[in-house]
Amino acid sequence: MYNLTIAHLYPEQMNIYGDRGNIITLRQRCAWREITTTLIPVMPGSSIDWQSVDLAFFGGGQDSGQALIAADFVEHQAEPLRRAAETGMVLLAICGGYQLLGHYFLTHTGEKLPGIGLLDVHTVGSTQRLIGNLLIEANWGTGRQTLVGFENHSGGTFLGKGVKPLGKVLAGHGNNGKDGSEGAVWQNVIGCYMHGSLLPKNPHFADHLLELALQRRYGSSTILSPLDDQLELAAHSTMVERLQR
Ligand code: GLN
Repeated sequence: MYNLTIAHLYPEQMNIYGDRGNIITLRQRCAWREITTTLIPVMPGSSIDWQSVDLAFFGGGQDSGQALIAADFVEHQAEPLRRAAETGMVLLAICGGYQLLGHYFLTHTGEKLPGIGLLDVHTVGSTQRLIGNLLIEANWGTGRQTLVGFENHSGGTFLGKGVKPLGKVLAGHGNNGKDGSEGAVWQNVIGCYMHGSLLPKNPHFADHLLELALQRRYGSSTILSPLDDQLELAAHSTMVERLQR
């Protein structure tokens, strides 16, 4: 019997465009396979045993939401979270959460929000927002590689040498609307701009994250039983076709 411990970072301040749907998807895809999950909300000031966490999720937020928790994130979570990430903890961060995993986010009003520097990226805000549907060709593993999502950000993120992009933009803006890259990956830490929610309509990616977490906890031979993803993949393919037209 498997159990996965899932941490949800700042669910009250950082939950925009249905990002919570990613948590629902992860837990439901586990439940369908009789894998139990323990959910830990990470609130301001929380003391978390990050070594017990298998998979963490950090959603997006407005600049004002990010400003509420950025210093708390650096002070209370940065170091233990980094140690867990160094040993393969899976972390998915979207948009505002992604930006705070980097070195900093300089907002379009000139406020410099500190990040924890887990990902070698930095973000600079602009008055021109990058908004719309996003389609990328991603770079992990084998099998289906397209990811579909929705982006809405003023911040443009620039990647340093310590990370690889999650993928290349086929439609939309991605990291900064300039270099054709989207997202950043280091170890099992993935940041990207894909709201939507991301995981319900990219079930192959949800399972990729679950498999990474299970294999780290229970050994490399752990595999997930297949699910009937007809509906989810129909939603995915509809967007792929629409955006490639
Ligand atoms: N406030 C950040 C920006 O505008 C993040 C937005 C978001 O999470 N959607 O860039």
